[in-house]
Amino acid sequence: MAEHYDVIIIGTGAGGGTLAHALAGSGKRILLLERGNFLPREIENWNPRPVFVDGRYISKDTWFGPDGKPFQPQVHYFVGGATKLYGAALYRLRPEDFGELRHVDGISPAWPLSYDDFEPWYTQAEQLYQVHGNGGEDPTEGRRSAPYPWPAVSHEPRIAEISEGLEKGGYRPFHAPCGIMLDEANRPASTCIRCTWCDGYPCLVHAKSDAEVIAVRPVLGRDNVTLLTGAEVTKLETDPGGRAVTGVVVSRDGERAVYTGDIVAVCAGAANSAKLLLNSASDVHPHGLANGSDQVGRNYMFHNCKAVVALSKEKNDTVFQKTLGINDFYFATDDYEYPAGNIQMIGKSNAEAMRGEKPKLTKLSPEWTLSDVASHAVDFWLTTEDLPLPENRVTTDADGNVHLSYHPTNDAEADRLYEELKKILNHTGMAEHHVLGKNFYMDMSIPIAGCAHQAGTCRFGTDPATSALDVNCKAHELDNLYVVDTSFFPSIGAVNPALTAIANALRVGEHLTQRLTT
Ligand SMILES: Cc1cc2nc3c(=O)[nH]c(=O)nc-3n(C[C@H](O)[C@H](O)[C@H](O)COP(=O)(O)OP(=O)(O)OC[C@H]3O[C@@H](n4cnc5c(N)ncnc54)[C@H](O)[C@@H]3O)c2cc1C
Ligand code: SF4
Repeated sequence: MAEHYDVIIIGTGAGGGTLAHALAGSGKRILLLERGNFLPREIENWNPRPVFVDGRYISKDTWFGPDGKPFQPQVHYFVGGATKLYGAALYRLRPEDFGELRHVDGISPAWPLSYDDFEPWYTQAEQLYQVHGNGGEDPTEGRRSAPYPWPAVSHEPRIAEISEGLEKGGYRPFHAPCGIMLDEANRPASTCIRCTWCDGYPCLVHAKSDAEVIAVRPVLGRDNVTLLTGAEVTKLETDPGGRAVTGVVVSRDGERAVYTGDIVAVCAGAANSAKLLLNSASDVHPHGLANGSDQVGRNYMFHNCKAVVALSKEKNDTVFQKTLGINDFYFATDDYEYPAGNIQMIGKSNAEAMRGEKPKLTKLSPEWTLSDVASHAVDFWLTTEDLPLPENRVTTDADGNVHLSYHPTNDAEADRLYEELKKILNHTGMAEHHVLGKNFYMDMSIPIAGCAHQAGTCRFGTDPATSALDVNCKAHELDNLYVVDTSFFPSIGAVNPALTAIANALRVGEHLTQRLTT
């Protein structure tokens, strides 16, 4: 007989890991099924060559593009999911992001809940993930019911200079919200050592607020929580009426096993959650589970992003660079009628990680070596909202493989943001002709492979005809199936998505606790 649990959670990233943490205290029997293993703690964690050049922590999965060409997606299968590698920039969406926003390429739709509905969960998420930040600095941020639990991570001298230059130029830079366990008031006791190997790297000393360290590990000692690693869920089976998931089929070490749960929460990441639901098609759900509306897999978003390196004459000795954000162009401005997006810093360039860009980079400054370029570089990350188009979607083929169709939107806004960045650099000792778009995380010849911010494949809503999930993230068509990762986003805003996935998991966790205990 299949082993039975109160709740089965599939995936242990920002959504699933946090949901497990939220439910553990209920005493209910929880099974966590994670296809990956624990990310090994090894010296390579902090070495740019294995991490960026060799892709040591990227899954060997093969997905297929719209042209049928295979590619290796930038996904990370570990306990903690993508948060093991994330930059821990933990932003709230802006209140306006929950409403309808007009973009150059169309409408970003409203959510069925408001910022005020999410606010208490954002606050809890910031407490749990120990977010560092200074409320009140970011001109676009919403109301907060509590201050950040930790003061913002301080700027190092070069970034402080840039921040001051921007303020003098009339901009409103702010300290970026960040989930690292840095105690600047007591450095000897600080878990985080403030190193340069953070954004895009695993943290060797477990000081990054990722879902493994913050959410999963703390509940593993409990009798009511079981984690199975190397356990890939391949199919969900239902009762004959199709109203309840009755079997969670797992492939582990080449063996098939089936588990049952009163509640099943799919938290496999936006593309893989859609894959699992689509691959669970049956006579009663011929187009895939929870897919009577034909929404599963559609509306895939991952932001219109650009990584940019700017060179200045001064050296940039910054160790931890991700401390500054600029939201002056987040919404329409007096001279541009559309939202352009968010500017933030990313991990500091180093010569090793820049190797692949050598010809372009040395052209910027021909007399410099690559390490000169790296040591003078200041690195920015530009994020523009992309729109949820029905044709941007995940589908699966007869063998169950992921096929991803994606056409970017709002390119004009992204270009505008890049132009604004170049303008503001003139206030910071960097000239606009010393700026180059580059990408640290992936080969730009296959842009869809860069699915770090993937979201939106099972959007939530009040109308079962246009959404896959209800407002509690329960499938409209099933009584015990939930999807609790970035899949539920109806739109993605222009800030990093993880805090919203975490806040939502806490929200759904509360709903499930009530459902299971009353
Ligand atoms: C390099 C990088 C940098 C990033 N930086 C930031 C940042 O600074 N700020 C931010 O907000 N966001 C950032 N992100 C994005 C952020 O990490 C994701 O938005 C977030 O982790 C998504 O959470 P999730 O629960 O949807 O998916 P994930 O965290 O990816 O979790 C999905 C989990 O499901 C597991 N899984 C998948 N399929 C199956 C299956 N069939 N059976 C069992 N288990 C399965 C996976 O192994 C994984 O553990 C970054 C991502 C990357 C890759
Ligand atoms: S900066 Fe801190 S959290 Fe980030 S990798 Fe280094 S020690 Fe870990």
